Amino acid sequence: MPDVLLSENINGEAVKALSQRFHVTFLPDLWKDPPALLRCIPDFRALIVRNQTQVNRALLDAAVRLEVVGRAGVGLDNVDVKAATERGILITSTPDQNAISVAELAIGMMLSLARRIPAAHEDTRAGNWNRQRFCGTELHGKTFGIIGAGKIGYLTACRAKAFGMKILAYDPYLSCDNVYLSELAGELVSLEVLLERSDVVSCHMPSTPETAGLLNAGMFGRMKPSALFINTSRGEVVAEADLAEALRAGILAGAALDVRAKEPPTAGVLEDAPNILLTPHIAAFTDEAQNRVTRAICEDIARVLDGQPAQNSVNRVSKN
Ligand code: NAD
Repeated sequence: MPDVLLSENINGEAVKALSQRFHVTFLPDLWKDPPALLRCIPDFRALIVRNQTQVNRALLDAAVRLEVVGRAGVGLDNVDVKAATERGILITSTPDQNAISVAELAIGMMLSLARRIPAAHEDTRAGNWNRQRFCGTELHGKTFGIIGAGKIGYLTACRAKAFGMKILAYDPYLSCDNVYLSELAGELVSLEVLLERSDVVSCHMPSTPETAGLLNAGMFGRMKPSALFINTSRGEVVAEADLAEALRAGILAGAALDVRAKEPPTAGVLEDAPNILLTPHIAAFTDEAQNRVTRAICEDIARVLDGQPAQNSVNRVSKN
């Protein structure tokens, strides 16, 4: 009888180890075919997903044997936790395991934008030698604003601090005596103040009804024309057409996005916007982070299937 279904591309040593103890079915493209997933889910005790498989109420209702869903990564926007809890299905995830990699990409994006590295590279590859054209901006002494001061926001701010930047944070759920923020001599401010004072704004909040489209024309209008905008959190937090317009109108100097409102995106307004840097949701895609994430989720799934408590459950379910 099958035990574990992997409906996205999750592999490595930890999956092999899990396969030695349980019957594991690896169907990395299944997330693209929700009716097929719905047909096969009744057979499984555990489901492991990334952020593409829609673990919605209909799927959970059909999952008659399912005990646990493992979300390999952070962010539960594709998992209906309420429906899972009502059905007694445990949800586990892997907080912390990819945070350093995401922070490193955010910093890479900041450096790329401030020094126009991708544009200078393309121009030089084309046979040019335009030194004046690629005069950039120094980061030392500038202000780095994080929207969402959780794990990734903090790790990104630590790295920005190492460049000699001042730290501002907006997070409605953080108190101003937060120890991590104090460590960075960071200042907790309103969103409006953060946008007005920051030279670089980096988003690290979750996708929620409250954050949907939070960064829109009105908010971009508050930023300095020299400011850089970075989003490695979730695409839904940005009104993409407003961002493209802000770049075209020179309201913002540059933007970098790892995440999009729809993934993969249909070619739209952003691809042609000036001073934009786009990556295909790769912030957590380093060998190190993926190994940690896969190991953490496989170990938690094994614990649950063995009748042990999960280490990183996000809901509480009662056992019959
Ligand atoms: P976290 O839960 O540790 O931190 C999120 C922070 O956002 C919390 O401090 C919370 O209080 C704050 N927040 C909540 N609502 C807010 C609001 N309305 N405005 C401002 N702040 C708000 O999460 P994390 O692990 O730091 O992850 C941050 C984000 O990064 C999430 O959206 C996650 O999905 C995303 N992420 C992206 C990738 C990627 O590959 N690009 C990988 C991992 C995580």
